[in-house]
Amino acid sequence: MERNKVYKNVSLTKFNSWKVGGKAENFVICSDVIFLCQLIKSKKVQRPIKFIGLGSNILVRDNGVKGTTIVMHKGLNNFFKEEELFYSEAGLSCSKFSKLIAKEGYIESAFLSGIPGTIGGALAMNAGCYGSEIWSYVKKVKMINADGDLIERDPNDFKVGYRKIQKKNEAENFVGAWFSFPKGKKVEAEENIRKLLAHRKSTQPLSWPSAGSTFKNPDNNHAAKLIEDCGLKGFMIGDAKISEKHANFIINLGAAKAKDIEDLIKHIKKIVLKEKNIKLIPEVEIIGDV
Ligand SMILES: Cc1cc2nc3c(=O)[nH]c(=O)nc-3n(C[C@H](O)[C@H](O)[C@H](O)COP(=O)(O)OP(=O)(O)OC[C@H]3O[C@@H](n4cnc5c(N)ncnc54)[C@H](O)[C@@H]3O)c2cc1C
Repeated sequence: MERNKVYKNVSLTKFNSWKVGGKAENFVICSDVIFLCQLIKSKKVQRPIKFIGLGSNILVRDNGVKGTTIVMHKGLNNFFKEEELFYSEAGLSCSKFSKLIAKEGYIESAFLSGIPGTIGGALAMNAGCYGSEIWSYVKKVKMINADGDLIERDPNDFKVGYRKIQKKNEAENFVGAWFSFPKGKKVEAEENIRKLLAHRKSTQPLSWPSAGSTFKNPDNNHAAKLIEDCGLKGFMIGDAKISEKHANFIINLGAAKAKDIEDLIKHIKKIVLKEKNIKLIPEVEIIGDV
């Protein structure tokens, strides 16, 4: 599929980590900022416009997504050091970003190494793990607004929370960002990445399609523990299964439909509310038509 070209009715199955879902009414893989600006400026491009990265935190419904879906991860992945700041475009993967920072001899990027999304997706979600979050390292961001113009924003322009951010203007999307990481030892930074990836491999069902943690952790609690304590590990709807290895992961055994996953999400919420009186909030974003 050619980059920077609008296609009609493209299956999004290959563009999300659960490997499910319907078609994008209009679909573009964007690898060029100038093209991106022209595309958004064009009145012909059908609205709403939805930016996606590696699709590792979305559940695309079976009936597909109206408007235009813009995939950012196959290009728009420039990375460079500018004085003491690192600039990354939104399409770069978090794992590559983490390794590039470590290679330069800067520390604390390891937490991003196992997050299978893009920098744009991580900024949109305030991605993080093991006590670290991406927005702690952001100095400035480059955004594209609804008119197709590039603007720079300061972190103070965002309300940053646990796996969520509030933008000043919801119609703006991320094109890139400048980050600051502490200087340290390259060997130590690279060793931290190795340890973290090994830990993830031993605790998460990484060989199955999933979207990582399905629910946010409630205050002073763990979604995985609550789900496990309700006896739900291994519970299935169609080919969607609550992982035995990590109860907050829903895995696709092969032929799951998005509806199976959504029904399983609803089932988990219902049981945890009934048994524990705790309302679980999905971390994954459900997109598309019912
Ligand atoms: C195995 C596995 C492990 C995971 N572990 C973690 C973890 O430890 N911590 C964690 O936080 N997450 C984790 N995740 C979830 C996911 O990887 C992160 O949320 C990631 O940041 C999403 O990035 P993405 O590029 O895949 O975004 P997508 O899923 O494509 O999109 C997610 C959201 O970001 C928006 N978005 C994407 N790109 C842009 C952009 N350029 N501008 C504006 N909005 C944009 C989308 O519109 C959507 O709302 C995991 C997922 C998997 C599958």
